[in-house]
Amino acid sequence: MSGLWKKLTSKLGRSNQAPHGPTVIPRDEHCVSRRLISDSALKVIHRLNQADHEAYLVGGGVRDLLLGGEPKDFDVATDATPEEVRALFRNSRIIGRRFRIVHVRFGREVIEVTTFRGNHDAPQTNSKAKAKHSARNESGMLLRDNVYGSMDEDALRRDLSINALYYSSRDFAVYDFVGGLDDLNNRLVRIIGDPETRYREDPVRMLRVVRFAAKLDFDIEANTEAPLSKLAPLLEDIAAARMFDEVLKLFMNGRALQTYALMQRYGLFAPLFPATQRLLDTQSPATTELIHQGLANTDARIQEGKPVTPAFLYAILLWPVVKQLHQELLDDGVPPIPALHQAAERCLHKQQQRVAIPKRFSLPMRDIWELQLRFEKQSGKRAAQLVENRYFRAGYDFLLLREQAGEVEGQLSQWWQAFYEAQPDTRQGMQQHAQDDSDRERRPRPRRRRRRPRKDT
Ligand code: ATP
Ligand code: MG
Repeated sequence: MSGLWKKLTSKLGRSNQAPHGPTVIPRDEHCVSRRLISDSALKVIHRLNQADHEAYLVGGGVRDLLLGGEPKDFDVATDATPEEVRALFRNSRIIGRRFRIVHVRFGREVIEVTTFRGNHDAPQTNSKAKAKHSARNESGMLLRDNVYGSMDEDALRRDLSINALYYSSRDFAVYDFVGGLDDLNNRLVRIIGDPETRYREDPVRMLRVVRFAAKLDFDIEANTEAPLSKLAPLLEDIAAARMFDEVLKLFMNGRALQTYALMQRYGLFAPLFPATQRLLDTQSPATTELIHQGLANTDARIQEGKPVTPAFLYAILLWPVVKQLHQELLDDGVPPIPALHQAAERCLHKQQQRVAIPKRFSLPMRDIWELQLRFEKQSGKRAAQLVENRYFRAGYDFLLLREQAGEVEGQLSQWWQAFYEAQPDTRQGMQQHAQDDSDRERRPRPRRRRRRPRKDT
């Protein structure tokens, strides 16, 4: 960051209010260049401007460009209402109820357009109209956050100071109402306004604090940090559907391990994964190790540009619970595979109350878990069938992870790796070999009854 910029930004006081209007950083004193902004976002801003609306790039796009990084997506803030935005873009739709915004789609890219939010305490002419746009529950949580306002009011309604910087493509300047540039400079995550009120309004902001601290490697400012542990349980009240996306953002940003460490420090993991947390608190370090390894592997894959699927991630976070339930069912005499199905069912059913995992992910999760049992049987035709399973690769990676965490012996994955790579005729030999080995181990043993063919679920 340039010295000049430092000087400029340090002029702004620590107050979150904006008594003297914004600090304006002209084009030649910051590094946000139009070349680095998506054409679609620029198009949206341009068209809104042409229709006589104010429109700015805001949020992660400005923050990440100022830090010299590459934004994940681009968000636009405007004084146009969602309906007015909708009318300007054919390729758009209004989404959300609690917080209405417009998604403008350009192929695979989506630009989020948000109408400036205003102060909820401002007097409204009609209280019925107000209830439609603003509502809180008894703990202060905003059930509706659709009161519109001006740009400076909007800045105060955003979560973090570093996320409340606006870029204008009219004058190419950056506007800062809340000391965000200063905090970027000092690498600080700071919530705007009174921390407790802001967390009560929307407890997800607590997750956003740790997410950005981990992602950007920033410190959490002291007042922002202070209420986290006390208010963490408020996360239990967040809709499970919203939580699904939040969890992905926490753990699929390449800094999952660090995010997880912060979540544990402030008690933010327990409200999301209560059953896993109970085991972490009571069980051997192996449970912790599996989650650490899993998140470290996820980070490594993302850094190498390899794909990571939500199913794999959730399979890791819930595996300790499934394993425990499975063992309890085995102890009750339920055979292994049905026991696994029941364990998965119970675990997922409970988990859905906190984080709603869509079927398209929970189905592969069950497969990944079931494969762990099936991997133990290396013999017979089943080995060849297993390799054909569409989640074999994910299941195999999961097996490797369990090995790294010290949960299973290394030979198992070596055998499957070799089997997978072998030609069909070699595979047959390997199966025979494994069969011979396991027969030798099992002898003497009564003759097995022929099994009736069974339908795999
Ligand atoms: P990234 O997209 O890189 O994860 P981002 O900061 O752009 O980071 P988004 O979730 O895209 O995050 O949100 C865009 C902007 O909307 C944020 O920068 C912030 O200004 C505002 N915002 C998002 N969530 C909240 C919230 N819960 N409370 C207040 N403001 C929020
Ligand atoms: Mg964004």
